[in-house]
Amino acid sequence: MSKPLNSRVRRCTFCLIAIMVIVFGVGTLPAFGYGQLPEPKFKVVAIAEKGGIHKPFVDAAKIWLAREALVDGFTVDYIDDTVKIDDAFLSHYKLFIELNFPPYAWTPTAAAAFQRYIEEGRGGWIGFHHATLLGEFDGYPMWPWFSSFMGGIRFTKYIPTFVTGTVTVEAPTHPVMHGLPAHFVIENEEWYTYDKSPRPNVRVLASVDENSYSPASDIKMGDHPVVWTNEHVKARNVYIFMGHHGELFQNSAFTTLFHNSILWAAER
Ligand SMILES: [Zn+2]
Repeated sequence: MSKPLNSRVRRCTFCLIAIMVIVFGVGTLPAFGYGQLPEPKFKVVAIAEKGGIHKPFVDAAKIWLAREALVDGFTVDYIDDTVKIDDAFLSHYKLFIELNFPPYAWTPTAAAAFQRYIEEGRGGWIGFHHATLLGEFDGYPMWPWFSSFMGGIRFTKYIPTFVTGTVTVEAPTHPVMHGLPAHFVIENEEWYTYDKSPRPNVRVLASVDENSYSPASDIKMGDHPVVWTNEHVKARNVYIFMGHHGELFQNSAFTTLFHNSILWAAER
């Protein structure tokens, strides 16, 4: 079915502005007059730790998301702690991205509001990497609800020396995996392991072949999902384990996965 004309026109306007910004820089925007900018189709909130080891990933994500937002017609607001999060705050956003933020040290109000947001499908969610740092960390207890959201897992180990691994797409027909090759390589990742596979409780979209690790590593968990969605909550949600290095934004499999996830998870 073809899209209504005004939606295509709006999309074209976004594309034109995106191309102008990419080619000529943001300085060209006033030439359009801000009043002519089309309304964003949806708003995204992204939470990212301030500084720390994942800063290069977060910085690269922000650059990539700025272009993506222009092309696909959304806006992104960033927060670096959970202080502002409550029901009213989340009601502005169709999508919550946990760029790199652990599931602990959230305010009780934020945790309760986020739980409602996910369970009632008030918006979608994409979480990366640190979102499965589930256990006792930095003096905080594990958040049991978040562990169950992630398939009932607990973090056990990671590969601190980083290894390259081959990821296998398990659900090629799922919208999040659209356009991805059957196998793709992710370089120099930490590959977290968990106390058990989340598979019985989630829909696994992709897994890493631990035998492909280069160099080889003894830190393995057997069945090792790395991208999944929990279909027991109303929110469209995707967890993507990969997310340590900023270089991921030069990997087209990773950016395709992120792009698909945004459009799918924000769609309701
Ligand atoms: Zn990391």
